[in-house]
Amino acid sequence: MPVIDAIENDLEFLTDLRRDLHAHPELGFEEERTSGIVAALLEDAGIAVDRSLAATAVVGTLQCGNGHGAIGLRADMDALAMPETGDRPYKSKVPGKMHACGHDGHTVMLLGAARHLARTRNFSGTVHFIFQPAEEGRGGARRMVEEGFFERFPCDAVYGLHNMPGLAVNEMAVVEGPQLASSDSWHVVFRGTGTHGAKPHLGRDPVTAAGYFVSGLQTIVGRVVDPLQPAVVSACAIEGGDFAALNVIPDHSSVSGTARAYSADVRDQLEDEIGRLARGIASAFGVAVDYRFERRIPPVVNDDAAAHAALEAARDVCASVRTAFPPSTAGDDFAFFSARVPGAYVWLGNGPAADGALHHNTRYDFNDDAILTGARFWTRLVERQLPA
Ligand SMILES: [Zn+2]
Ligand SMILES: [Zn+2]
Repeated sequence: MPVIDAIENDLEFLTDLRRDLHAHPELGFEEERTSGIVAALLEDAGIAVDRSLAATAVVGTLQCGNGHGAIGLRADMDALAMPETGDRPYKSKVPGKMHACGHDGHTVMLLGAARHLARTRNFSGTVHFIFQPAEEGRGGARRMVEEGFFERFPCDAVYGLHNMPGLAVNEMAVVEGPQLASSDSWHVVFRGTGTHGAKPHLGRDPVTAAGYFVSGLQTIVGRVVDPLQPAVVSACAIEGGDFAALNVIPDHSSVSGTARAYSADVRDQLEDEIGRLARGIASAFGVAVDYRFERRIPPVVNDDAAAHAALEAARDVCASVRTAFPPSTAGDDFAFFSARVPGAYVWLGNGPAADGALHHNTRYDFNDDAILTGARFWTRLVERQLPA
């Protein structure tokens, strides 16, 4: 059914709000002001609001008609702990904090869709508007899921969206399969027997074991993982002994790093293989080893049906939609939602990279010209997935 009430009538309000949020950035789980504004606007629109999850999360629920379907739309609200160096009238008023990833825009676009859907009600079913705190490494999505998001707000499918410089503001990329890598940490501690540096035969040397381990590490990606499957293993910290005690072989040495993959299988493989290598090296050198693999964020892998639904909605509202776009080596904890129910994560153009500034750059800014496309996309997705 055609809808008369047009989203663009709200554009000036949404643009002002986006700039206001940009000027008042808040870090993960500290989004008090932002979540207060979001909750108040949802309530004003007649949308049921829940603020009981994950400290500062806001979930708005809008139900229309007799439809039994339910979908979740996620926007993240948090900023980054970094200074803003770009000059603009709505520059961050908080030293050392800025919206450098465009989450101010994500928040406003989902709000725009929520306000519009609450007015037009051109759907039948239930929409959960998920305003998530703490996407930037602080675990907001995981906490929402662990605190019972899906039990409280059952969803048949979830959708996420991120702005992407380099695509036009009326352009989106909706791609099947992997979108973002897993992001995990691992820790290896070799435990030997300390001894005099001049008498290595009286101890068991954990420093040499660490050296062999690091030099063998890239054989996991080079010799074990399928060459057609992307994977990264990096040793990023190494420690052992004391530079003030160069005649002492220490008791232990430590190596830690990161592991990235685009599939659950390769992620499991990296966990297994790093441990296998560490234990093998330890055995060869007669030392003990502690190994810990810390799963932080799973990969974001689009479900085929959810991606298809997002593609149809994107094609309704965009001048062009790309169906081929390279996955990002970054992570997004949207993965905790899409690991539970089918999900799709899509990219919305942010226009040319102004001054070459990309995500997490001190001059980055969300492009307000993209607000309309994003809000229309969310609206159209609901209308298509929960037809009236
Ligand atoms: Zn970011
Ligand atoms: Zn982001």
